[in-house]
Amino acid sequence: MNKKKNKKIKKMTKKKNKNNKKKHLIKRPKKIQVRRENKINNNQFQDNAAPVIVQHKKYLPKSLRGMEDILPEEGKYWDFVLQKAQDLAEDYGFKKIETPVLEERVLFEKSTGMTTEVVEKQMYQFTDRGQNQVALRPEFTPSMVRAYIEHGMFSLSQPIKLFCFGPLFRYERPQSGRLRQFHQINLEVLGSDKPVSDAQVILFCKTFFEVLGIKVSIQINSLGCSECRKVYRSKLINYFKSKRNRLCPDCQKRLIRNPLRILDCKQEGCKDLITDAPQIVDSLCENCHSHFVKVLECLDEAEVAYELNPFLVRGLDYYTRTVFEILPIRTEVVAIKKDSKLEEKKEGENKEPLPADKQVEVAPVIPSMSALGGGGRYDNLVGELSGRETPALGVAFGVERIIEELKYQNIRISKERAPKIFLAQLGELAMRRSLKLLEDLRKEGFRVAENLAKDSLRAQLEMANKIGVKLTLILGQQEMSDKTIIFRDMSSGNQETIDQEKMIKELRKRI
Ligand code: AMP
Repeated sequence: MNKKKNKKIKKMTKKKNKNNKKKHLIKRPKKIQVRRENKINNNQFQDNAAPVIVQHKKYLPKSLRGMEDILPEEGKYWDFVLQKAQDLAEDYGFKKIETPVLEERVLFEKSTGMTTEVVEKQMYQFTDRGQNQVALRPEFTPSMVRAYIEHGMFSLSQPIKLFCFGPLFRYERPQSGRLRQFHQINLEVLGSDKPVSDAQVILFCKTFFEVLGIKVSIQINSLGCSECRKVYRSKLINYFKSKRNRLCPDCQKRLIRNPLRILDCKQEGCKDLITDAPQIVDSLCENCHSHFVKVLECLDEAEVAYELNPFLVRGLDYYTRTVFEILPIRTEVVAIKKDSKLEEKKEGENKEPLPADKQVEVAPVIPSMSALGGGGRYDNLVGELSGRETPALGVAFGVERIIEELKYQNIRISKERAPKIFLAQLGELAMRRSLKLLEDLRKEGFRVAENLAKDSLRAQLEMANKIGVKLTLILGQQEMSDKTIIFRDMSSGNQETIDQEKMIKELRKRI
């Protein structure tokens, strides 16, 4: 019986070896990826389908176009802007809210508007695995309004002031200051029709940019109510009708579907025609006119400087009455010194800001297409979505654009909690002890930099220097056995040995 079994096993291994040999003779295709074809639908694959060999290049991971990483060196700018915004929002009585990035697609169609660029051309929308039509939020206001309605905020004391921050998604053509994933700081005031609320939100904008140190121009207009717009719409159609052929193809379509949007066009030909177009202020009804005047009076009272921009319309359907936009004011060199002579700057020459001694004459410039924020009133939106009339307004600031402007205007960012101490360790025992020591220092309120992965003291001191700490604590074999630690003053290079017991007290004196 056993003999038989052995023979069988021998036979099997022979066969297996034969197969192995054969396997080695088979040439492997150079690049293979096994993919099952014969898809039944988007998400399912037919189990018994034959694997298909597909050639592919070596995969190199990279982010999607228009979607950027925020790298550690950018962190201080983000912390600075967000901290200032949050502190100020709290001072102005706004409460923080967070909503999901994914919402029902219909929410944006019904609020942002079906004929807007954002919904028509830019929204990331798809059918999820449960066959729901969803969209990545392209703006905050619809989600804020949805949350207000869904959580019955009508029944709370009005107005409700909401503040939020987060990523938004628009499938735009990526360029400077225009991304497909970008971030906004957003404020909404729901449940007030008072002009003073408009003025307070605009005052927030003024203060926010003052705190950041960015010079801005606040531009204001009123879009009136639906009645005013009906009148204005027919005036606009009359004006542009005879100039139809001079409008860009998009504006020719807009003339039929949404003529107000022509005023937003950035094409040179259209911009020329817009200059002489009728202005909406002349079509405002009595109520809207009086509301706008009161907003401006409140702003004057609060000493907020603004510019009236009769052609500011903003791109979204829901706006009514007050709309506004915040644009940066840059100083541009208009003349430069050459061989001690003043010469007018030529186009394209010295695009970058020049050092002060070379700048001879500067002029304030407001770059177009670089709004740092914008907002306005949307008195009908909550009513349209819920049946309960609730006047409201809001503003959104683009964080990436603000950071770009901080850099452009050379504004210094102070990093308040930068570490002032570095802990350097030498030897296995000191390295292990450092873990606990760092924790003790942190609990005492000290922010300490380290590089426990480095063995060399020189490398650690170089790092401490680079970070710019005031003091480096050095823990070596000797100090471990003496229960001491070395204090190295980084500016003088002087070193002192201190008892570990007295370390915290000494640090409090010196930091
Ligand atoms: P909006 O929601 O279109 O009124 O935009 C408000 C602010 O968000 C703008 O003033 C910009 O600062 C910023 N923003 C809008 N779209 C983008 C984008 N695609 N990329 C970067 N920032 C944007």
